[in-house]
Amino acid sequence: MLTGQMMGEPLLILDLLRHAALCHPQAGIVSRCHDGSIHRYSYAEAWSRVNRLAGALSELSVAPGDRVGTIAWNDYRHFELYYAVSGSGAVIHTINPRLSDEQIVYIINHAGDRFLFVDPDFLPLLARISPQLETVEGVFLLCEPGEVMDAAAGEARCYEDLLAGGGGEFAWPALEETAAASLCYTSGTTGNPKGVLYSHRSTVLHARAVAGSEGWSLSSFSSVLAVVPMFHASAWGLPYAATMLGANLVLPGGRLDGASLYELIDSERVDAMCGVPTVWQGLLDHMQQVGKRLESVEKAVVGGSAVPLSMIQRFEDEHDVFVMHGWGMTEMSPVGAVNYPTPSMMAMDKEARHNLQLKQGRPVFGVTMKILGPDGREQPQDGRSPGRLLVKGPWIAESYYKSDDRSAFLEGGWFDTGDIATIDEQGYMHIVDRVKDVIKSGGEWVSSIEIENAIAGLEGVTEACAIGVPHPRWGERPLLLVTVDRAIPERDILSHVAGKLPRMSRPDDVVIVDALPHNATGKLLKKVLRDQYRDHLMNASG
Ligand code: ADP
Repeated sequence: MLTGQMMGEPLLILDLLRHAALCHPQAGIVSRCHDGSIHRYSYAEAWSRVNRLAGALSELSVAPGDRVGTIAWNDYRHFELYYAVSGSGAVIHTINPRLSDEQIVYIINHAGDRFLFVDPDFLPLLARISPQLETVEGVFLLCEPGEVMDAAAGEARCYEDLLAGGGGEFAWPALEETAAASLCYTSGTTGNPKGVLYSHRSTVLHARAVAGSEGWSLSSFSSVLAVVPMFHASAWGLPYAATMLGANLVLPGGRLDGASLYELIDSERVDAMCGVPTVWQGLLDHMQQVGKRLESVEKAVVGGSAVPLSMIQRFEDEHDVFVMHGWGMTEMSPVGAVNYPTPSMMAMDKEARHNLQLKQGRPVFGVTMKILGPDGREQPQDGRSPGRLLVKGPWIAESYYKSDDRSAFLEGGWFDTGDIATIDEQGYMHIVDRVKDVIKSGGEWVSSIEIENAIAGLEGVTEACAIGVPHPRWGERPLLLVTVDRAIPERDILSHVAGKLPRMSRPDDVVIVDALPHNATGKLLKKVLRDQYRDHLMNASG
């Protein structure tokens, strides 16, 4: 082999912020603070505080490879930890406060976190779990000195006091790009959560991919609202991608209701925003109530769960906002596919385009996909043949942290996503369902997502969940569970979906429930519901 003769400069996270401070010193970060006030500063100011924080961490003897945990909302202090911890060679472990107490204790002990940085909102959680933490040496509260006078704070110290002792320019260590930089545990609906350990290289490559036109199309003109949490899967890479390009990064803290989000969107002239469907539902409903339009917003990135057609339509018809559907998972840093606009898509009539936008998109460059049929053979890319979705790429996990569970890591370096999908001739991937949620009726696969999409948009139905339940003749049949905000006869719900679905996919019955259970990332806990409704159709004969 003739080796190329180019420099092997490592790809390092800290260089993103160093670059922003040098080349985009005016751009910066706007955050909603704990008390509701707005904090703003430039990337240049962030850089200087990150240097001080790294100095303070080294005073605490935080060493390369050590894990430092955060339980925090999206704000500038969490952003500083992202850079200072990884820049000093340690690993930032972002902890999802929506996990159960038991899971949070498990992951902190499993990660071996030496210090925790906690938003005051999570003091009650901290008080509950503290006695069971085995490795934590100290806790810092992300607030102003004297801001929190809560007995639950216990021995916790103030982050700003720590920073004050940090000194000036820090002597950053030389790191290898393959060094671990951050750690995030999967939400673990079954069994214990599993740790995904991202490297500097994987993080920078992922940021490069999602920042560009196959991703969120950011630039120094952008003002991007990250509603998606920094405590899970690095807020889809936004704290890195926005910094790389000098986009303004808008961080909403813990206030994720429609009114608070709109206030930020309006005051910061947000043009791009990223979040899960439930959050956008709240924003759309709020905008309807107050009779206003999202004037500045051009695109809404929606992922984490399938975006319903009604959401694509409402964003476009009521606000002239283009919905970009995205798909990914914690193991993929997390972005794998994005449905970004293309000339041929924009030339389609509206209905055809909306149908295309329902697909999760094409793999961003760097991610390779294939689908395997039930016989283990690769399926054709015809948009019709479903199969297990396998992926590989430089920002996809190849193992779990301190775990020998290799069940999802297949021969040839492929990762099994646990999703069933189709891929069409143009490369668009469409998620049919999770392997464990797909409804197996008479030897056919019925997509629970397709049924949920068919009900979305029916006035009065606030949430829907389709599950497969045992049926004496068909093996399994779909059952629809919904929550409502007004009285609706069950037969109206069934006839609404019947008109939109092929016969085989029409639910056999609908049950109106008070609430539907969700996991820590807001996904429906279908397993719980399958257990609960196991006998619902067993006496049916049809
Ligand atoms: P995250 O926590 O980042 O949402 P998880 O790893 O918890 O990621 O969950 C990933 C799973 O979420 C995917 O395997 C897929 O089943 C589901 N998912 C993510 N985005 C979408 C989407 N746009 N449409 C349908 N399902 C999605």
